[in-house]
Amino acid sequence: MFRRILIANRGEIALRIIRACRELGVEAVCVYSTADKDAPYLKLADRAICIGPPPARESYINIPKIIAAAEIADVDAIHPGYGFLSERADFAQICRDCKIEFIGPSPEAMAKLGDKVECKRTAKAAKVPIFPGSEGAIEDEEEAVKVASEIGYPVIIKASAGGGGRGMKVCHNEATLRTNLRIASQEALAAFGNGAVFIEKFLEHARHVEVQVLGDKHGHAIHLYERDCSTQRRHQKLIEEAPGPLIDRKRRDATCEAAARLIKAAEYSGAATVEFLMDGKQNFYMLEVNTRVQVEHPVTEMITGVDIVKMSILVASGEPLPYKQKDISIRGHAMECRINAEDPDKNFMPCAGRITTFEPPGGPGVRLDTHVVTGYMVPPNYDSMIGKLIVHADDREQCMNRMARALREFNVGPIKTTIPLHQRLMENADFRKGGVDIHYLERLLK
Ligand code: ADP
Repeated sequence: MFRRILIANRGEIALRIIRACRELGVEAVCVYSTADKDAPYLKLADRAICIGPPPARESYINIPKIIAAAEIADVDAIHPGYGFLSERADFAQICRDCKIEFIGPSPEAMAKLGDKVECKRTAKAAKVPIFPGSEGAIEDEEEAVKVASEIGYPVIIKASAGGGGRGMKVCHNEATLRTNLRIASQEALAAFGNGAVFIEKFLEHARHVEVQVLGDKHGHAIHLYERDCSTQRRHQKLIEEAPGPLIDRKRRDATCEAAARLIKAAEYSGAATVEFLMDGKQNFYMLEVNTRVQVEHPVTEMITGVDIVKMSILVASGEPLPYKQKDISIRGHAMECRINAEDPDKNFMPCAGRITTFEPPGGPGVRLDTHVVTGYMVPPNYDSMIGKLIVHADDREQCMNRMARALREFNVGPIKTTIPLHQRLMENADFRKGGVDIHYLERLLK
């Protein structure tokens, strides 16, 4: 096991990793920007190193500064958390060159699954269900038109190197496809330095269902079942739950097994998520693979009892996964509400500022992953998420009742948060039935 780890992140995920380190008997070194200098979780680390001013490019995503901190602190490994440097294959390669273990996949596995065209190719070979569409990147316009007429409109143009919901265009007919192809390729080149685009079938109504997987350096891979993350706004997830409601178990199991096959085929070690869209007939189509720990990992931890962050550290240190697939089973139901410092009544405007009231919920089955305490100052520089409220219960119905109860206890002020919106959803009849699609929340907010 590692002696000492550097955490190249901030906020709740930095704290989550500190906790895993502590339980594993590994020292945790945090880095921070001046915007986070008073963050209370830094006191829980064995050491905290200032790496620069608030803008992420001068601190949390500044590779020379992160590597310098790692060398000063003499760490064996770096945990990137999510966001920031977590999906940068060049960073994983630099860590390797500096003889520091990157806690995540190898740069090769990350590049293979991070590029959408390459990922689709690997998925197809592993018999993972994918969207019908072009085989690889589009070489010329005529080929795209031919593929689109075969699979039928609407189609979506995507950038191979895309991410964060950028570089996608939906086309409803041949004329828009022709004009958008050129624009999409130019935009992709400007945004990602790679102009490769591809097309696939566009699903109008779908649910977002994703599979948590874990791989080790000895060729083992397992899945930890699925999460439903369909409650989104502008591609940002707001509520996640596990297992996914109203999903046929046979279909679900086949998809989860396919996801595990994919990361095994990519010789992937660490935690990953294979994202799918599921249509009304419960057909699954792979969207992409996230090669890191995800924000919503706790719901899977709650139903399987597997500590995903600890596992990511364990496998990076070279240990084999201590679980076989048959050891993994689902217990009860879990749900997570993302608590963001945003005003739902003002178009989700971010609300930075000091939190003078912070009364967290408690009681049976409640878990709160947050770095916030009374007096915490929410800096304006980063993501507005201030915590994740996770509850676990015997079934979905009791889980929602428990969530409603916990949200009612949760008092944060004077800044506005997404708590009232979550309260509204816990009472919404459609949400309670289960199986709302990815556009449901946006329709509700209109
Ligand atoms: P990114 O890497 O930019 O996040 P994704 O491939 O994960 O891109 O897609 C982001 C979102 O775009 C999805 O969550 C979904 O809402 C929508 N989307 C992507 N592909 C399709 C598709 N084929 N049909 C319908 N919606 C899609």
